[in-house]
Amino acid sequence: MKNNSFLFLVFLISSCANFPTNEVSKNCLFPVNNNYPGGLINHTLENSYQDLENKLRVGNLKFFVCRSDDSGLNILAPIPLSYKENLIKLTFQDQLISSIDIEDKFYRESRIEIQNRDLVSPPSSMQDRIREEYQQGVIAKNTYTQVGLSQATMSLPLIGITSSEFGVRRFINGQPRNRHIGLDIAADEGTPVNAPMQGKVILSGNFFYKGNVVYIDHGDGLVSSYSHLSKKAVNLNQKVSKGEVLGYVGSTGRVTGPHLHWEVFFLGIPINPEIFISK
Ligand SMILES: [Zn+2]
Repeated sequence: MKNNSFLFLVFLISSCANFPTNEVSKNCLFPVNNNYPGGLINHTLENSYQDLENKLRVGNLKFFVCRSDDSGLNILAPIPLSYKENLIKLTFQDQLISSIDIEDKFYRESRIEIQNRDLVSPPSSMQDRIREEYQQGVIAKNTYTQVGLSQATMSLPLIGITSSEFGVRRFINGQPRNRHIGLDIAADEGTPVNAPMQGKVILSGNFFYKGNVVYIDHGDGLVSSYSHLSKKAVNLNQKVSKGEVLGYVGSTGRVTGPHLHWEVFFLGIPINPEIFISK
């Protein structure tokens, strides 16, 4: 029963967070052409529209309207991993103005068997803590600070081996678990983790699942998090510049070995961090 009400709460929080958001910025320098679940739509509108922010809909997705210098309009919309349609309809005052094809994206499955039940489900004494930390994460990932980013390219937080990609479909003892919404980079314990772009520390804690974790608000709806750190090197509310050390690779929280679990959210939706990496 307790478990059921927790799941319902999780459902409520995630469905509220799915409400469309409309914001306007001068920044259009977000990654392009990632029209797949776990990616980001960056679509140029052919015409200009009045009162666009209130009358435009991008399916039921959250979106961000971006005005470039030549007064062109771009729609930026993160596509949830769970998105199942093969197109998204753009409507203005309920009139169809454009359709965007959504590509299929292959995400591999990871199946593991664990005999020790305590490792599969956390002890019930931890439920309150886990719920509280989950809620802190929901607030952090939905942070929106309008800054007019001049670019949204990131550098890798560290050089290591990708041990688990974004989007992996995970199963434990045959039961589906949450999709892997981050990118795992394995490296030696103590390897510095650098801020991939400038921002501000909006959450810093020691969580049951994530271990030592830091969330950074980069502005304009872009938020990232760094989990399982052996040690944090920044404090809450601290401003960080690109390349600054946030902490060190560790194996705190629920992990099997030292690695960084790196998440990137746009308008609260987890998207593949790799699309932000400057090539
Ligand atoms: Zn991970």
